[in-house]
Amino acid sequence: MLTQPTVARDIVAEPRAVYRARLLNPQSAEAFDYLPDGALVVNADGTIAEVVAASRIADDASHVTLHDFRPHLLIPGLVDVHSHLPQYDAVAMDGGELLSWLQAHIFPAEARFANPEKARDAAERFFRDMLAHGTTTAAVYATIHQEATSVAFSVAERLGMRAIIGKVMMDQNAPPMLCEDTETSLKQSEELCQQWHGRDRGRLQYAFSPRFALTCSMTLMRRAGELARQYNAYVQTHLSENLDELKWVKRLFPQAQHYTDVYRRAGLLGAKTLMAHCVHLSDEEFDLLQKTDTRICHCPSANFFLKSGIMNLVKAMKRHIHVGIGTDVGAGPSLSLFREMGAACLASKARWAMERFYRERLLEVWAEFSMLGARGTQLFRRVLAHLELDEEAHVADPKLVFYLATLGGARALGLDHHIGNFAPGKDADFVVIDTTPIDPTHDESEDQSLDTLLSRLVYRGKGTMVQATFVRGRRVHEEAQGRRAKFCQRLGSC
Ligand SMILES: [Zn+2]
Repeated sequence: MLTQPTVARDIVAEPRAVYRARLLNPQSAEAFDYLPDGALVVNADGTIAEVVAASRIADDASHVTLHDFRPHLLIPGLVDVHSHLPQYDAVAMDGGELLSWLQAHIFPAEARFANPEKARDAAERFFRDMLAHGTTTAAVYATIHQEATSVAFSVAERLGMRAIIGKVMMDQNAPPMLCEDTETSLKQSEELCQQWHGRDRGRLQYAFSPRFALTCSMTLMRRAGELARQYNAYVQTHLSENLDELKWVKRLFPQAQHYTDVYRRAGLLGAKTLMAHCVHLSDEEFDLLQKTDTRICHCPSANFFLKSGIMNLVKAMKRHIHVGIGTDVGAGPSLSLFREMGAACLASKARWAMERFYRERLLEVWAEFSMLGARGTQLFRRVLAHLELDEEAHVADPKLVFYLATLGGARALGLDHHIGNFAPGKDADFVVIDTTPIDPTHDESEDQSLDTLLSRLVYRGKGTMVQATFVRGRRVHEEAQGRRAKFCQRLGSC
């Protein structure tokens, strides 16, 4: 029987291990499994053998190593679908909107990555902090520098992070120190892809990363798309974030019907393309993303921070577009996906409140429209539809955003057959959570409903809850010694 509580001290995967704890296991945006006393059984190769109630572990389980994390909670490793490594040191620089903020804070920060030593130091801190926040998988932009990008890969490889990384591509409208020759940009990106894509059984993958339509020629974007298809690699870029950006794109690509059409013409849309932001999309653009199975990276904090707007998450979900959540550091203030999940719920509520306010205001002037007869009614309906106020708004709830930060994010990256939740055959990427910091009673043994647990994780979750992080059954982060000592003391096992 599992009667001897022990605390794991191993750093590498070991023959068949059992992790006993409360288990939270998302199955869809609505359905979650919750085992108050569960066991995650992990094979020596880091894959999950089974997920069962602890009582079902056989009496002869003495050949396995038991890691008893009770009363802590195990959740699947979090998936961050959009972030910028070189922007970490320029995080939380307030003021301005996207384009002026890039010039004032971000481009100078990215230029410093010409120095590979600085790049190594930054990558080390960035990925360590991600793992400390429970993020096991991330899609990440480096800078235009080939060596700094390679350094980012090597640090992620050593630390055990699962990462999709790409060298930023910019061949126009960028500061001279960051503006590349088109051919050089393509050649260096291809070399990086050849070097890193698929490394360690696919733990590391490459993303061709044309920054956004403003800083990329059509030639660069087209050929980046071709290379991505040739190597079955990802494409990551930004779409429809800021209103000034939209106007500039219109001027640069007058033949395109809208912003999304620029990327369609470049051949960049598809199931391996990650589009960040998507704040100001028209219905036709949503249609195009849906039709091409293009993925959306929802970055609510960054959208607030740069005053860009609020992405219509509910609309994207209704259209069955795959969406993941991105911290988008440095416009996002933190690498914590818990914080970002809360922001996603609040953003959705802010949108709901705003829509309600404008709908009611418009209804106040309805009488004046109606005096114009049928034409007035028609015009009024058009105004409502144009402002997207013609339907009752809905809000995102904690279940939905937790799903998006785990299984939904894995689906957005096309990795859900490997990660995202606990299922036999998937890789054992998981996070050990001490829920006392988010529980006002500070009592982990308290019986909580699933809704209460999820709501607290989403609205009150923080990095300090993370006790340990595992990727493929390998411990890649553990909490500070002092906190560990307290935990062991409470369990009586140290
Ligand atoms: Zn971004």
